[in-house]
Amino acid sequence: MMAVDGAALRGMVAEIAAAMEANKDELCRLDGLIGDADHGIAMALGFGAARDAVDALGPEAEPTAVLNTAAKAFLNAVGASSGPLYATALMRAGAAVKGKPALDDDDVVALLQAMATGIRDRGKAEPGDKTMLDAWAPAAEAAAAARAAGRDRAACLDAAEAAARAGAEATRDMTAAKGRAERLGQRALGHVDPGAASAVIAIAAMRRALAS
Ligand code: ADP
Ligand code: MG
Repeated sequence: MMAVDGAALRGMVAEIAAAMEANKDELCRLDGLIGDADHGIAMALGFGAARDAVDALGPEAEPTAVLNTAAKAFLNAVGASSGPLYATALMRAGAAVKGKPALDDDDVVALLQAMATGIRDRGKAEPGDKTMLDAWAPAAEAAAAARAAGRDRAACLDAAEAAARAGAEATRDMTAAKGRAERLGQRALGHVDPGAASAVIAIAAMRRALAS
């Protein structure tokens, strides 16, 4: 298996950026149903800026530097509420792997958990509030459970992606307790939360970048 070093994480950021760009219109469409129709733009802009910033680092940049640089670029690029949420997620991911030139399987799972915890701490949402946390929290839990069962990082990332998909799908049946959709009340029912949908895209891209 490939080493998950700084270069691999730069590749991961590029993979997420490409996936957000490819899904930009669909994410804006979803946000248009229960928000302000900008979520795809925010995510493509944020991860595009993160990719450009980490590309400017030298090839020897360590994981923490890559993740911190991505966090700062994301925050500077995105004015929407997803800006500070993903910036915190990436910053926490950087802190979780501090000092490590390469991540082992436990570290990859810790990175996912740090991202989910960062989003929760920053946004103060709980599971069931119809936010991106409804994809991130089960994804991190599933990855941790797979790791505790002795599975390798590819299997942990597979489990994370599957749980994120199920979690995002479940947001259809939720009313929102956070974000712009909160004011819609029952009218938010039947629609997938755009932030949960983009979380699936991010986690799937992370799996593609880091699994092999
Ligand atoms: P904005 O709502 O400012 O336009 P975006 O459209 O980029 O920002 O992102 C909207 C998404 O952000 C929502 O679909 C939801 O998943 C997520 N979100 C909003 N508020 C919170 C929060 N407090 N905690 C977690 N996620 C949140
Ligand atoms: Mg929006």
